[in-house]
Amino acid sequence: MEKETFISKKSIEEMLSLSGPGARDLREKAARVRDECVGRKVYFRGLIEFSNICSNDCFYCGIRSSNSKTERYTMTPGEIMECVRFCDESGYGSVVLQSGERRDGEFTGFVTETVSAIKSEFPEMRITLSVGEQDRETLRRFYQAGAERYLLRIETSNSSHYRKLHPEKMVFENRRNCLETLRRIGFQVGTGVMIASPYQEIADLAGDLLFMKAIDIDMVGMGPYLPQKDNTLKDWSYDPQEALRLSLNMIAVLRIMMPDINIAATSALQVLDENGREKAIASGANIVMPNVTPLKYRQAYSLYDNRPCVLDTPYGCYNCITQRIEGTGLLPAKGEKGDSLRFLKRKGKRIDVCNC
Ligand code: SF4
Repeated sequence: MEKETFISKKSIEEMLSLSGPGARDLREKAARVRDECVGRKVYFRGLIEFSNICSNDCFYCGIRSSNSKTERYTMTPGEIMECVRFCDESGYGSVVLQSGERRDGEFTGFVTETVSAIKSEFPEMRITLSVGEQDRETLRRFYQAGAERYLLRIETSNSSHYRKLHPEKMVFENRRNCLETLRRIGFQVGTGVMIASPYQEIADLAGDLLFMKAIDIDMVGMGPYLPQKDNTLKDWSYDPQEALRLSLNMIAVLRIMMPDINIAATSALQVLDENGREKAIASGANIVMPNVTPLKYRQAYSLYDNRPCVLDTPYGCYNCITQRIEGTGLLPAKGEKGDSLRFLKRKGKRIDVCNC
């Protein structure tokens, strides 16, 4: 971490505003920083979208609670285990269990039991939970059951911007406090923001990167805001090329600011550009999350329109993403867990890769 230098908010805004050759140089620099610090490997997380039932009503989201057009589902424990088995056989060192947000005992108990079952059959498999804000005791139970990582996106670090994207009952401070609780419990903690979202300004994005640095985040999954036909913000004017430019610049600047974290090349980028994930890797990302959710559920996890890969089988995604990574000249890190080096350093663990 000693190579990290302070970058002012103004400088970050200037870097985020780059386009053309300036943006190309920025992204190439970020890729070099990634190569030098965490190596030329891309790690896999098998994404299991196990339920699209959500008690929240975020204005930008296709599976928000008030969208009556969404067909709701929850996968059975057997179906989830099948997905994990596939990940294990495919050499994915890690799975992400993702769902809408619920805090009722039936749901949190289901998550705890599922994590325990996975750990009992696959003790080496790293588990990331992405199941929204939960209270401290629930999070502690998840951790004790065997979940090591937790992804909780804040979507924006500006509380007044947050207010414009969420209903009254959702409070930015609660989300930020939850990130702190996750850290105290011992999780590897991830967050993320929406880029080019309604009402957002360049200063907000610069603030988001400074927020991630201030809370010393271990991993980040950020991607472009994408319209969804049933959401309340669907008429917001939207420029896909601008969203792509900003998204790649965000990844690049974050990599330069925090060389040793994990940064995902999110599949949302592929909506904007067929090679969106490769471009993210070329801008400093080092994580991919191939979807392993059974095909019959994919369409119903409709966070945004035109989701990629909804008709690709898990085997298809495996082959496709492997070829895409190889096409970038990096190594698909099969059979490796890919823990965040920043997290390992904080824990005082021995590091063989990091050169920073
Ligand atoms: S963004 Fe997450 S919490 Fe918000 S409505 Fe969608 S699934 Fe629920």
